[in-house]
Amino acid sequence: MTEQYQLVETRLQEKLDNGTTRCHLCLWRCKIGHGQRGFCQAHVNRNGTLYNLSYGILSSIDIDFIEEKPVKHYRPGTKVMSVGSFGCSFRCGGCHNLDISWGVEALDDLAKGQSTEVWVSPQKLVDAAIRAGVQGIAFTYSEPAVWLEYVLDVCELAHRAGLYTVYVSNSYVTDEALELLVGQVDVLCSDIKSLSDDFYKDICRPARVEQVLASIKKAHELGIHVETRTNIIPGKNDDPDEHYRIACWIRDNLGADSPWHITRFFPAYKL
Ligand code: SF4
Repeated sequence: MTEQYQLVETRLQEKLDNGTTRCHLCLWRCKIGHGQRGFCQAHVNRNGTLYNLSYGILSSIDIDFIEEKPVKHYRPGTKVMSVGSFGCSFRCGGCHNLDISWGVEALDDLAKGQSTEVWVSPQKLVDAAIRAGVQGIAFTYSEPAVWLEYVLDVCELAHRAGLYTVYVSNSYVTDEALELLVGQVDVLCSDIKSLSDDFYKDICRPARVEQVLASIKKAHELGIHVETRTNIIPGKNDDPDEHYRIACWIRDNLGADSPWHITRFFPAYKL
């Protein structure tokens, strides 16, 4: 683990011909040439090696009850320190965290070496959580896969300190990345935004419903406690027939007692 800000090698990268690299953290599986960044903007290729720009860079930090994540069947009544960085694998039209999820300015500054963002080591974050009296740390606000290097280092130290860990995801995540979460992440709370490929195409061109569902099922099969959420957006995913099909999928794949959270949409960004 590093003691000051520096580029950290991307955990799941494949070195290709001519100095290009492929990132396998999320299902974009971006092919990235020297000097270029992936879709999330948080990974940069420098001379044939891929690096995470956002290791230890926090965009947000807050303290919540675990029920607000939302998670209902894991350590109810306990509190988590919620943290997020910059960059995301989706571009949701109703995003509430636009400055964070796009994070273009912050990530540009980091790429140019001109950032003034505060750097927080994994140990400092865990120490802060203990001081705050919380029982867990939650990675949220944008997709945690885009800074998985930091997430995994924090999880390891958090467990050693007796804290649990929560990963709030869009589940556009590779099997390889999910396998790295085993033993590190206790709870995965994932969106099932819709069962319509057109809905996903709107926010993430290549994403398909079956990929998202397969990723959620895989996390469950890996033994991670999984809960799901659908945020109902009027006119977009408010068909009761679709909700019935989501409920049936959860019952058949995650179990009849698996919690599914239906949340109210609050207008934001383009919606
Ligand atoms: S995390 Fe996803 S979007 Fe970002 S570089 Fe890797 S594959 Fe691309």
